[in-house]
Amino acid sequence: MSLITEDTIRELASFDGGGVPVTSCYLDVDGRRFPRHQDVEHELSGLLRPARTRANGTPSVHHDLQRIETYVRAGFDRSRTRGLAIFACSAHDLWRVVPLPVPVRSRVVINDVPAVGQLESVVQEYDRFGVLLADKQRARMFVFELGELIDRSELFDELPRDYDHRGEKERGDHAGHVEALTLHHLRRAADVAFRVHQQHRFECLCLGGPDEIVSSLEAVLHPYLRDRLCGRIAVHPRAPVSEVREAALEVEARQERAKEAALVARLRDAVGAGHRGVAGLDRVLAALAERRVDRLLVSDGYAAPGWRCRPCATLATVGRRCKVCRGEMEEIDDVVEESIDEAMAQSCRVEVCVGNADLDVLGQVGALLRY
Ligand SMILES: [Zn+2]
Repeated sequence: MSLITEDTIRELASFDGGGVPVTSCYLDVDGRRFPRHQDVEHELSGLLRPARTRANGTPSVHHDLQRIETYVRAGFDRSRTRGLAIFACSAHDLWRVVPLPVPVRSRVVINDVPAVGQLESVVQEYDRFGVLLADKQRARMFVFELGELIDRSELFDELPRDYDHRGEKERGDHAGHVEALTLHHLRRAADVAFRVHQQHRFECLCLGGPDEIVSSLEAVLHPYLRDRLCGRIAVHPRAPVSEVREAALEVEARQERAKEAALVARLRDAVGAGHRGVAGLDRVLAALAERRVDRLLVSDGYAAPGWRCRPCATLATVGRRCKVCRGEMEEIDDVVEESIDEAMAQSCRVEVCVGNADLDVLGQVGALLRY
């Protein structure tokens, strides 16, 4: 699976259908949520039905939707793919499938340009991270990006056999020697990690291995790497890469949830103080229209119908006259999703919060404001 890059996104974003709408489809195909292929097909059907209505007879869009359906129904390898992003514009031969190793929010957007907002946020959300596993003689360093392995290094410093087994128990003088050798090995492992970091610049580092080894390893890490520590993983130093990857993704998800919780707490305080924070769809849309939003926080899966102004694109929960330009508004199925796109277009940061009850209480959406 080739990784998406900012260049891929920019290239897509610059596509111009010359008046023909572009179809963008994001499909959650996460095997943990949709174990069977027919579950995925069911998810897709739920998206395509309203999309066909919205296509409103435009031949290119109908063809796009048909092609998407054929592609998904034919089946594809889901062992490492948890999300799909598909961009199509049949009239101009645009057909781009981006398999993602992380889940996405299912949706179909039909618009003048490809809806790259979610791709962009995926790239933002998934930091590059390192995993360093060690025991007394082995060290393995991995770097993952978007859940995909991009680099690995291995190090093996063999301990003399005698010392390894009998030495510690029976020959006390040699125990000290083993300890010294182990420490030397861990220092080398820490050096490898630092070298890899210089090359790949990962945001966080998890350690794994026997407790006492990991503690010693932590102590000899470069301070720069110690600042990037984000927890330990219970993975055997000789575990297969797939297992390392799973454990690392879990740590990353846990970190992400913690980050979201901190932001929601900030939002709650701001809203409570009536300063630089608003909650609830109405207020958030108003703040977006005034371009005051710094960060948008949305509960995962939250959707609500609303209105969009035809002349000035302002979003609102109530139509049909635009409060900004007095223009006529049109009804849209999901104003929440549109607000995310709008926030991205305004270069706001968007945080989709998973399972955060505090945000749900605040109305499932809120915004930290710039002023
Ligand atoms: Zn307007």
